[in-house]
Amino acid sequence: MSSEETLRAEIVAASHALHANGWVANHDGNLTARLEAGRFLATPTAVSKAQVAPETLIVVDEEGTVVEGTRKGFSEMKLHLVAYKARPDVACVIHAHPPTATGFAVAGIELGEPFMAEPIVSIGPQVPLVPFGMPGDKALEANLGAALADADVALLANHGVLAVGSDFETCLLRLELVEHVCKIALVARQLGGPTALPPGLVHDLTKKHRGLFPRAHSGKPGALSAGAETPAEQLVADALKRLG
Ligand SMILES: [Zn+2]
Repeated sequence: MSSEETLRAEIVAASHALHANGWVANHDGNLTARLEAGRFLATPTAVSKAQVAPETLIVVDEEGTVVEGTRKGFSEMKLHLVAYKARPDVACVIHAHPPTATGFAVAGIELGEPFMAEPIVSIGPQVPLVPFGMPGDKALEANLGAALADADVALLANHGVLAVGSDFETCLLRLELVEHVCKIALVARQLGGPTALPPGLVHDLTKKHRGLFPRAHSGKPGALSAGAETPAEQLVADALKRLG
């Protein structure tokens, strides 16, 4: 794990990126990082993500109680704590309201069957839609925990998006990808709806995704396995090689 000082710089940079990308407004959005000994670094409530600075950050314990810093914690802290509990491999959590993905979430519309190859490799075959609940709602917490057991990014109905990862860059990339896929899905729906990929290909790409992001270990992306087994895996391995 990075040092606390590094994490403080990273959480500030990621906060500013949320604002710069237009994924939050007003005081929306919140970010946390796992520290040692059941402590979590967090952005405070009631601060624009553009204004987050190292001295505004707080540290909370496993109950969400502020143990360091002068600011107050945000009301959605329990959702972050649920994510860390459900996923011991996760080091960072970001919650935001990227407009198109949040549009799907507030419309209660799931992305459905996968229709592009790359997102399956990067974030898995499904982006779950967690049913609506207010902060503190036990059903919401249980549903989110269950959704994150098999996904790194989830839509929260009538609310927004939550992404987990081994670092902030990974969380931001997952948010970016889900927002991008939702934009594509929106256009495709206007043109008659996306065509789902063949199930066999989805299966192969899902296998590749699990190879790249083994959750049982450190949560860090694993190396691409040497011998690609199927044509789809070969395709992805080649594409990843070209991307460097
Ligand atoms: Zn929110």
